[in-house]
Amino acid sequence: MGKNKKTHLPNEKYLSLPAHAEAATPIIDTHTHLLSTFSSYKSKYTSGKYETVWDFVRGIYAGRNVKAIVDVWCEAPVQSAWKELADSAITPDGRAENWGGIEYWFVMGVHPHEASVYTDAVEKSILEAMAHPRCVGWGEIGLDYHYDNSPRAIQQQVFTRQLRQAVKLGKPLTIHTREAEEDTERILKQEVPVHHKIHIHCFTDSPEFAQRLLDHFPNLHIGITGVISYLTNVNTSALVRQMVASPGGPRILLETDAPFMIPANIYASLPEVKGRLPLCHTAMIPWVAEFTAGVVGGGWGTAKIMQRANENAQLVYGI
Ligand SMILES: [Zn+2]
Ligand SMILES: [Zn+2]
Repeated sequence: MGKNKKTHLPNEKYLSLPAHAEAATPIIDTHTHLLSTFSSYKSKYTSGKYETVWDFVRGIYAGRNVKAIVDVWCEAPVQSAWKELADSAITPDGRAENWGGIEYWFVMGVHPHEASVYTDAVEKSILEAMAHPRCVGWGEIGLDYHYDNSPRAIQQQVFTRQLRQAVKLGKPLTIHTREAEEDTERILKQEVPVHHKIHIHCFTDSPEFAQRLLDHFPNLHIGITGVISYLTNVNTSALVRQMVASPGGPRILLETDAPFMIPANIYASLPEVKGRLPLCHTAMIPWVAEFTAGVVGGGWGTAKIMQRANENAQLVYGI
C-alpha cells in the first residue's frame, strides 16, 4: 500500500530549475510537445502565473541557456494553432520578442495512434506546414504495437504514405517505433533512401534493432529521453554504451518528449521538493545528458554528451 496516497503538487516555482553544473553548454531539445506541455501546466496549476505558451517559454526556458527546440505536431486533424506559433518565430525580432531568443522549430506528421483518422485533407494541411520556414521535418510517424490504438495494417499504410511524401520533399524524418521492430525496419528500408536524415525518437526497443538501422542508414540518429533514467529500461543504456564503443562515436540526439518523461535524477538537484513534478520540459535536458554520461562513463561528461548531441541535431535537422 502506498504511504503517500495524496500526491503532493510542488509549488510551480520549482518548475524553474536551478542552473545545472554544465549550464555553459546550450540546450537543444530535438523533440518536445510544447502545446501539450503548456496544457499540462495549466491543468496542474489552474491559477499559475503563465497565461500563454510564450509566457511559459520565456518564464521557464529563457535564462536556462536553451538554444533551440523542435516542437512536434502529430495530431489528426492538424491543430490550427501550429501556424500562430510558427509564424511568431519567423524573424529574429519575433524570436527575441516572443520566444526570449530561443530558436523555435517544428516537425509535423500523424502519430501511429491516430493513423486511422489520416485523410487526404489531413495530408494537405501537413503539406502546407512543410513549406513553412520554421519546419524542419516530417513526424512523428511510425508504428506502435504496444498500444495498438489504430489497427496495424492501417498504421503501416499511413506510415508508408507519409514516408513517401517526406522523401519526395527531402524532409528529415522523426520516427516513433514501439514493439514493432520487424515492420518498422522493413518499411524504412523499403521506402527511405540510405542517406536520408532520420531521428528514431525516444528509443526503447532492442539494441540489436537500433544497430541494424544505424548500419543501414548512415545519417540515422537515436533520440534519448528521460526514459534512460528509469529502472525498467535497460535497452537504452545498453545501446548508448554500444554506440560509444563504435567508430564515429554515439549518434544520439537529446530530447524530452515533454510533457511526459521527467528524468529521475533531477530530484537530486531539487532537495526541497516534496512529491513529484507534474510535467517535464526542455530545461531538463542537462539531466538527461548527465544520466547518459553516467551510463557511458570514460571521458564522457555531461557537457561532452550535450555537445555531441548538439552537433548531431545540426546534422539531422540543420538547427
Ligand atoms: Zn513518440
Ligand atoms: Zn513525441
